[in-house]
Amino acid sequence: MAYGPDSPVSVLKGVGSVRLKQLEKLNIRTLGDLVSHFPRTYEDRTKIVQICDMEVDVPACFRATVISYPRTARLPGGRNLTKVVVSDMTAKLTLNFFNRPYLDKQLRYGQDYVFFGVLREGFGLSITNPEFDTSGARSTGRILPIYPLTAGLTNHTLTGYIEQALTVCLPQMEDILPQDVREQYDLCDAQFAYRCIHAPDNFGDLARARRRLVFEEFFVFSAGLAVLRASRGTQHAAPWTDLDLSPLYKALPYSLTGAQQRAVDQISADVSSGSVMHRLVQGDVGSGKTVVAAAAAYLAHRAGKQTALMAPTEILAEQHATSLGKLLGGLGLEVVLLTGALGAAEKRWVKERISGGQADVVIGTHALLTADVEFSNLGLVVTDEQHRFGVRQRAALADKAEQPHTLFLSATPIPRTLALILYGDLDVSVMDEMPPGRQPIDTYLVDETMRKRINAFIRKQVEAGNQVYVVCPAVEENEETELKSAEAWYAQLQNETFPDLRVGLLHGKMKGADKDAVMRAFSAHELDILVATTVIEVGVDVPNATLMVVEDADRFGLSQLHQLRGRVGRGAGKSYCVLFSESKKPETLSRLNALCATQDGFRIAEQDLALRGPGDFFGDRQHGLPEFHVADLEVDVKTMQQAQEASQSLRSAAIADDPQYAPLLRRIKALFNDDTNRFN
Ligand code: ADP
Ligand code: MG
Repeated sequence: MAYGPDSPVSVLKGVGSVRLKQLEKLNIRTLGDLVSHFPRTYEDRTKIVQICDMEVDVPACFRATVISYPRTARLPGGRNLTKVVVSDMTAKLTLNFFNRPYLDKQLRYGQDYVFFGVLREGFGLSITNPEFDTSGARSTGRILPIYPLTAGLTNHTLTGYIEQALTVCLPQMEDILPQDVREQYDLCDAQFAYRCIHAPDNFGDLARARRRLVFEEFFVFSAGLAVLRASRGTQHAAPWTDLDLSPLYKALPYSLTGAQQRAVDQISADVSSGSVMHRLVQGDVGSGKTVVAAAAAYLAHRAGKQTALMAPTEILAEQHATSLGKLLGGLGLEVVLLTGALGAAEKRWVKERISGGQADVVIGTHALLTADVEFSNLGLVVTDEQHRFGVRQRAALADKAEQPHTLFLSATPIPRTLALILYGDLDVSVMDEMPPGRQPIDTYLVDETMRKRINAFIRKQVEAGNQVYVVCPAVEENEETELKSAEAWYAQLQNETFPDLRVGLLHGKMKGADKDAVMRAFSAHELDILVATTVIEVGVDVPNATLMVVEDADRFGLSQLHQLRGRVGRGAGKSYCVLFSESKKPETLSRLNALCATQDGFRIAEQDLALRGPGDFFGDRQHGLPEFHVADLEVDVKTMQQAQEASQSLRSAAIADDPQYAPLLRRIKALFNDDTNRFN
């Protein structure tokens, strides 16, 4: 019986096809997955209190004798309520159990049990559905791990599986942290950590285990980025020497902001340094990143090189082609657009211009680098809206072309703590300044009582020749939630509320071509109102849109709402954002009110991180961070910095060659989903 971390969970006692499916839902397939399925929280069931000392609303463990036979009553709706009275000599207490038909076989008159529950004040003091153990071993009298679960799988059952998996895996566990790193940062070993994170004897051990695992997560991630970065450190590029941007500056109808100028200067320094540039330009929506990319493309042109600019959608690519075509075209550069929308003959012609070297700037989607496009002299790759693409794609991109300079543009203002780890392999230019003269977007938080007035306001905007976005949290109607779905809300608005206006629908489940068609129609003002999901979050520039209405706004992260709001206020017209929410929770309301009060994306991002934690930071994980299982980016900043420091002191060459780093290298490869042997 040679089971190990890679053995399937089906080798465990009690795991059949039903359990397999449930575990699969939690992404658990192997014993190793079970061992890495960490508790989301713990309940302190170590202290046994006397009933007379119990406090209302505080969870507690107590030992007591059953002093009444369980009595069951039928309730309306087919439910059963069973009452049992227990006593521990200091006091008596009634326990209520709902729908527990076999309770009289489990709780026997005159016997002692350890119970865990929360004392409530209602009609007298009682506890509803307490947990209990005959032995006090599994769920009471200990620090109980509480796991993320799925329907049908109880915490108790899962705890049992994890105990079995630990028995198999712990003796074989390799430590991915090198001995000297463990010593330097006073970290416990892997076996202790994995045992104690699941079944700690005390809170001191738990804290030690947790710190080590947090360190480990950050360490693997930043060691991976360090290896990436180091492998590029040797990439030489002939320095670009002609850095004169004055023709471009003369052609601009405005002068650069200080932040834009700094970013351009940093880029100039990079491309003239002799090594390949890997730079991220990070700036809020509307901070003017496009012109920074244009400056880089202009430098490439002066160096005799071509630029590829990739946008996440075709519509955005078209927009860039139009605006850059005007600006750079006027300076003698040839700007071409290559998208799936082109006809075959046109496509062939464009490709010839690219391979022949006549095209200076090539704009398209990500297909640009994968399609059979041959550049004659590619010197710069710009990725717009980089937060749409993860670290993995970034790594893959760095691999693809023959070492051009790379520039990433990201509209997601990331708090500094997060940027430190997420962009560990990049140099970062922060654009923390807006072009002058921006009008603030008036933002209002409202509830259903305002519906009529907001509808009238929508109509007024449309009648004034403006356009309106309406964003819903879900695509389809769902019985379980009452969230507004884009489909149903679109039907409602088009058929009932605004039958005389032109309403469109856009969501992520539509085909790419259909999406682009709708977006194009909205851009061309063939639609007045666009009902959409968060697919419109990115990039699109329709200056004529002046009103953003968000339904069930409490369902979105603050940063996401800020991105959405950034879709309006792009033209001359005064713009507005209306957030609908029925939430009564004070913390939700203060979150949304924070958005009404400020337009500063960095401040909002920091608030968002503080309030919701990184898991929800961007709604649907568009930030490209891997999922951290134990680490909490808000509270674990110090450990993160230590892990970062430790990973940088490793010689990355050693990671690839020295056998002591083999377990670490395996983890790095798994994390980055490495299939290109980038780390070899
Ligand atoms: P983003 O950073 O969101 O990509 P854009 O590059 O699309 O922003 O710029 C937003 C708008 O601001 C554009 O209309 C652009 O012409 C304008 N803009 C950019 N830089 C400046 C500046 N320095 N002064 C005035 N307007 C600017
Ligand atoms: Mg942009």
